[in-house]
Amino acid sequence: MKNFIMAIDGPAGSGKSTIAKILAEKNNLTYLDTGAMYRMVALYFFENNVDLDNDMEVKINLSKIKMDIEKDKFILNGKDVSKDIRTPRVSGLVSFVARIKRVREKLVELQREISRGKNVVLDGRDIGTVVFPDAPLKIFLIASAEERAKRRMKEYEEKGIKEDFEAVLANIKERDMIDSTRSEGPLKKADDAVEIDTSFMTIEEVTDEITRLVKEKTGE
Ligand code: C5P
Repeated sequence: MKNFIMAIDGPAGSGKSTIAKILAEKNNLTYLDTGAMYRMVALYFFENNVDLDNDMEVKINLSKIKMDIEKDKFILNGKDVSKDIRTPRVSGLVSFVARIKRVREKLVELQREISRGKNVVLDGRDIGTVVFPDAPLKIFLIASAEERAKRRMKEYEEKGIKEDFEAVLANIKERDMIDSTRSEGPLKKADDAVEIDTSFMTIEEVTDEITRLVKEKTGE
């Protein structure tokens, strides 16, 4: 298998990153969490009080961002921000940042650069439609908003972050709305993506199903 690209898209909390990590391990692929990249930009913009409506400010600040990604570690201008990018505050801001054309252009380019010459699984919103429209395997994961909010709550609890269920549910619905209605790279199932509803499936069932599809595509 050479230069194999697997695209996993879907709404917030649909299980993309959990599934992508397992698939990467099982199939010896590099995993790229593109949501974390948008979260890093959102964190930087928040910390530097960037006015999202001021194109010049966005442009200048974007040029000051240096991202280094080492597996699960996200380094922003030399600082490990892996935890800071997962807070409710960043979740509340990220979709507003991710709809800015300039931000998307920079990150899409970076995602292609990081993936060059490798076997990669990427998760996000626009991987199968914009970043790698020719990817041989595209998965679109979905689940009910309530189920996705439950999963996010569990993640927050494990990290010791206290959040209200209704607030988490509202954030998920808000992000879905902004992500799917923006003009640049909206959250959208690619025509040739395989849709899997994970609401009533275990993680193992989902990864087994996708592993079967990988074998079908690669013949390995
Ligand atoms: O995947 P995650 O939920 O961490 O992504 C955070 C946010 O980043 C999404 O709600 C979306 O606004 C943005 N995003 C995006 N395109 C991607 C990945 C994430 O717009 N490929």
